[in-house]
Amino acid sequence: MTNNEKLAQLLFPDITKTPEDYEKIYPPRNLPEGARVARFAPSPTGYLHIGGFFSALVDILTAQSTGGVSFLRIEDTDKKREIDDGVSAIVSGFDYFGVGFTEGVTGFGTEKGEYGPYTQSKRVELYQTIAKSLVEKGLAYPCFCTADELTALREKQESEGALIKGYFGKYAKCRDLSFEEQEARIKAGESYVLRLRSQGDENKRIAFDDVIRGKIEMPENTIDEVLLKSDGIPTYHFAHACDDHFMRTTHVIRGEEWISSVPKHIELFRACGYKCPKYAHTPQVLKIDEETGDKRKLSKRKDPEAAVSYFVDEGFPKESVLEYLLTLINSNFEDWRRANPREDIAKFPFNLKKMSSSGCLFDLVKLNDVSKNVISVMSAAQVYENVAKWAEAADRDFYEIFTADPQYSTAVLNIDRECPKPRKDIAKWNEVKDYVSYLYNALYTPDFRFDEKLDKADVKAILTKYLEVYDPADGKDEWFAKIKDMCEPLGFTPNVKEYKKTPEAFKGHVGDVSGVIRMAVTSRSNTPDLCAIMQLLGKDEVTARLNSAISTL
Ligand code: GLU
Repeated sequence: MTNNEKLAQLLFPDITKTPEDYEKIYPPRNLPEGARVARFAPSPTGYLHIGGFFSALVDILTAQSTGGVSFLRIEDTDKKREIDDGVSAIVSGFDYFGVGFTEGVTGFGTEKGEYGPYTQSKRVELYQTIAKSLVEKGLAYPCFCTADELTALREKQESEGALIKGYFGKYAKCRDLSFEEQEARIKAGESYVLRLRSQGDENKRIAFDDVIRGKIEMPENTIDEVLLKSDGIPTYHFAHACDDHFMRTTHVIRGEEWISSVPKHIELFRACGYKCPKYAHTPQVLKIDEETGDKRKLSKRKDPEAAVSYFVDEGFPKESVLEYLLTLINSNFEDWRRANPREDIAKFPFNLKKMSSSGCLFDLVKLNDVSKNVISVMSAAQVYENVAKWAEAADRDFYEIFTADPQYSTAVLNIDRECPKPRKDIAKWNEVKDYVSYLYNALYTPDFRFDEKLDKADVKAILTKYLEVYDPADGKDEWFAKIKDMCEPLGFTPNVKEYKKTPEAFKGHVGDVSGVIRMAVTSRSNTPDLCAIMQLLGKDEVTARLNSAISTL
């Protein structure tokens, strides 16, 4: 037995499996040529950042478009960052948007797939097996340095102005301890971590081809990274390399903040004898800072829209958010959408190479516009269902009112919808209550603000006359014809053009007359089709509202 083998046995007496055993447990995937395997690997912080969701969407699209596999792996080796059930919020974010992974964690304590467990804390034996083999090969060693010693090391490097800081080369005190010393210290119960014995050379560079960014070159890693912490739990860096190998990941797709870690990761893959995956570093999701006008990363602390839950709570339809994210993900999406206005997003020919490498600007105003378009082409029944579902969770009072008569509410939503030029008024479900409030007595508070350029007496005359001619059975044409007929006797003109030519000749035009009726019936100066609104309200309610308006004049 070599000293390395003796050391490995001393460090891992309970590990009986070998890396080869795991090669058999997790065989290469049987996938068609060109199929990609991508993973989303968040820490269970109970929070899904829109940037993470964006990157995960790229994983899912990459797998879908190549007949491959996407999976969700929970990286919970950093206990400090973890919260009790940090998984459900992540999973429910994906559920809401109806986008799912082929494999992996599906909820708190549940998962699917053959390459699991997909939660790192459940794979400790695997990491230790690989770590043991690295010790056997002389590629890892125990480091007994205390926190104080490491702080002193950092201070020394800072005062010396060292270009590279960390545990490496001449600073790595424990790198060359004799086996006898290692053995004595382990047996004496000293605490230690396991470090990689880096083979990197600071004068050499490594290059890799990022699918999104092209060739990237960086100095090799020389740091003796921690592989296992003193409690035997791996660091993220080590665990992810083992997992991406045994889960047979072909493409590591993740945020650009990980680019600087690539040399370290490549060295880890090589040390373990694994083929390196391909890398694709997605751009950061940015916004324009309201105060400075500069672009900056969406911040969990400052920006409510950094959390995926924000879009759920506000009631943005999943279709709108996905549609908008796709415009950020692939520059040709908007052209494709124009050519295929009603096609399912899943049909979009996504291409990882068509992603921009610079940060993408997440613009809520643009999302609102996209969403108005998306909602405008939904059927009234679809909108009804979505609003009911949102309100059930977010606004119980409104839910009760809105769902008391589903047929009525669907008809309300159908005003100016399901027609060639639908209105584009609603961007999210939390706007609907206000949008329809005057159509529900329980939500309606009269608040008449008649156009100030009209005399009170004229307003009163219009409403009084309208009460005389109003017939709930009128269709749209008769309805409008009646309002036109009222104009002249009251000193208004039915002809807007004529009014514009000689405004002094009239009190106003037909739009002013219908505006007065609109205000009396809805307390608004702007609504969808008023005739349809009056038909829905019904004769008694319309008459009562007209009378109540007259009584205020
Ligand atoms: N667990 C890492 C994170 O929290 C994942 C990084 C990676 O995708 O390699 O973002």
